[in-house]
Amino acid sequence: MLNIYNTLTKEIDEVSPLEDGVVRMYTCGPTVYRDAHIGNLRSYLMADWIRRILSAQGLDVVHIKNITDVGHMRQEMLERGEDKIIAAALEEGKTPAEIAQFYTDRFLADEQKLRIQPAHEFPKATDHIQEMIEIVERLVETGYAYEADGNVYFAVSQFPEYGKLSGNIHEAELLEAVRVEADPLKRDPRDFTLWKAAEPGRMVKWPSPWGEGFPGWHIECSAMSFKYLGEKFDIHTGGVDNIFPHHEGEIAQSEGFTGEPVVSSWVHGQHLLADGVKMAKSAGNSFIMSDIEAQGIDSMAFRYLCMTARYNTRLNFTFTSLRAAQRGLQRLKNRIWQWTMDADGDVANGADVEEWTGKFFDTVNSNLDMPGALALTWEMARSDLSAATKLTLVEKFDHVLGLELVNVVEEYESEPEALEQLVRRSSHREAGEYADADRIRAGLEDAGYVVEDDATASRIRPKAEWEKLTEDRDIISSAAEVPSLVDEMDSREVTIGIVACNYVEDVKRAVNSAFTWANGRDMEAVILDNGSTDGTSEWLEELASRDARVRVIHADHKLGEGAAKNIVLKQSLGRTVVLLDTSAEICADIYGRIEQMLDQKDVGIAGPFGLRTDNLHHFHDGEGESGEMDAMQAYCFAFRRSALKEVGLMRESFRFYRNLDIDYSFHFKEAGKRILADASLGVVQHEHRVWSELAEGERDELSLKNYRRFLEKWGDRADLLVSSGRG
Ligand code: AMP
Ligand code: ZN
Repeated sequence: MLNIYNTLTKEIDEVSPLEDGVVRMYTCGPTVYRDAHIGNLRSYLMADWIRRILSAQGLDVVHIKNITDVGHMRQEMLERGEDKIIAAALEEGKTPAEIAQFYTDRFLADEQKLRIQPAHEFPKATDHIQEMIEIVERLVETGYAYEADGNVYFAVSQFPEYGKLSGNIHEAELLEAVRVEADPLKRDPRDFTLWKAAEPGRMVKWPSPWGEGFPGWHIECSAMSFKYLGEKFDIHTGGVDNIFPHHEGEIAQSEGFTGEPVVSSWVHGQHLLADGVKMAKSAGNSFIMSDIEAQGIDSMAFRYLCMTARYNTRLNFTFTSLRAAQRGLQRLKNRIWQWTMDADGDVANGADVEEWTGKFFDTVNSNLDMPGALALTWEMARSDLSAATKLTLVEKFDHVLGLELVNVVEEYESEPEALEQLVRRSSHREAGEYADADRIRAGLEDAGYVVEDDATASRIRPKAEWEKLTEDRDIISSAAEVPSLVDEMDSREVTIGIVACNYVEDVKRAVNSAFTWANGRDMEAVILDNGSTDGTSEWLEELASRDARVRVIHADHKLGEGAAKNIVLKQSLGRTVVLLDTSAEICADIYGRIEQMLDQKDVGIAGPFGLRTDNLHHFHDGEGESGEMDAMQAYCFAFRRSALKEVGLMRESFRFYRNLDIDYSFHFKEAGKRILADASLGVVQHEHRVWSELAEGERDELSLKNYRRFLEKWGDRADLLVSSGRG
């Protein structure tokens, strides 16, 4: 039977159901005012594997997954610009219930795409307000909770076991303190809200014994788990970020209410990361299923990818690893496809099936070892078992894996005509007529097939969507994948470096303007297509195919600005590099003048738009002035490529563009180089859309973060300023 790590006992416990043959399991479900990101989906996949493992071994699993559709329409969240989608929907006159339904439907569709077995019930929080009120009333009666001004709080001091799940109570206190501003109504800072009085103007609220209000976050899971699973049940799942405060609070409420332990096993999944940090919408590094589909990648490849890391370890998501998973899945399917042809009505060997099935269940039962299960599947595939035995085994394994592996037969079906071509090709090959064979192969490929040969046979299958989309493109997932040419010799006079992300008209204007004024110079453009989705990628591809001076690298998602620019810097080969923003347009031959400026002793950066400061805390633009500056703005930023060896690359912790140019300017200053502006250089600034299309709150927050980063490093380097008399 399944043994799994229990966050409560801190041990790997065997799942032994309270009722014979039936496992009751509760999974903390999605918040439905936004799409579930693939990190959330990773934690639902974990619960799905637990369920499949148990039911494949004969247990009846009752699975409940709640829908959190309340407590999220908070005004302060909207004001911080945290949820533009919901703000827009409310503005359009949609009701909160309509918004919740919209995202619930999308969530269910995502689960279906990943073949996550649907829970037996998806109870909504808003349908269970009465049940929550009843629990809170009883907690007040028994002294576990108290009322203050229409709010009800759980009195943590009354529940001595508080902290038994998350461990450290002091840490709990700390977390509580930084999460929310001290609430003067709480008797103890650790106390948490069970019921909250509605503030004036609040739309979503209910009557209660304490006046109109709405429930706290944790109480919904106590109420719904009791209602659908009873006051004792077997397994409760969630992501590790749920351990505190959500599940700690749930235990206090539920056990305060019943006076007894409620959940036997608490199972928590580790996070999916992106760019090395927890995937979260607020961090701007989240992806949703449609981002995967947009790249033509199968949803099942994500399921396969999640299987490559144990549930209790972090997994860093990149599209490169997703594509690798897609190829792994494809190779596995290719084999299964071959077995269906080879098996040809044979029967499986019973003893082999029993032995391998035993090994498989030992593996998954051992703390949900899905990577082990996948490895075993591959070992089986490569073994010398008969094709029929392999087919039987893969079908059994797949009840747990959930990859729909045996569907490959229909998926790979080809037109009869193509199959005839394949037969003709094989006979040409046998006859040594390779030119004919290659001609047929090319024809099949043009018709959208992939031809695969191995030692014994040739097969064709329809080309997958992801293979069509990524053909002939240089696609990367991180700056680290791009080699540095910094140590190579200059092979051009000028490199125009551009980072492009959507706004294709702006991109065209900037690129074309740079070449228009080349005046016979040997120029190249190095363009990073930073995860564009609006046709920019296609235009750039087309440009590169007709103009050998243009090199395009596609990032499969939007990289942070520092990383994006570094890719351009690493790939440049011009003696002079001119970084050009897509909101800028060159309207004169600026290159001669730039060379002249950079020829001056000690000058590190040249450009038209300088910045000055007296104290590092406020930079103001040169306002049409020329001369020595404290920083150069990114719209047009020129330097010698050889300087890279001294000043290094940009700091990749700058994900947002703003103030990165100032930071990088200081790298030059520190290396003893001056920054020179010539306001008469022919460069025009147009609307900067990245800026103008951000919500005000958001752009302020992002800019501030970067400014802090800048100050941390350079705050006490007033000695580098022009006003300090240096230079
Ligand atoms: P939420 O919709 O924010 O309540 O989250 C739904 C579920 O996803 C919870 O169980 C979270 O613990 C889990 N979760 C949130 N972020 C991640 C992540 N980056 N990786 C894995 N699981 C996550
Ligand atoms: Zn929950």
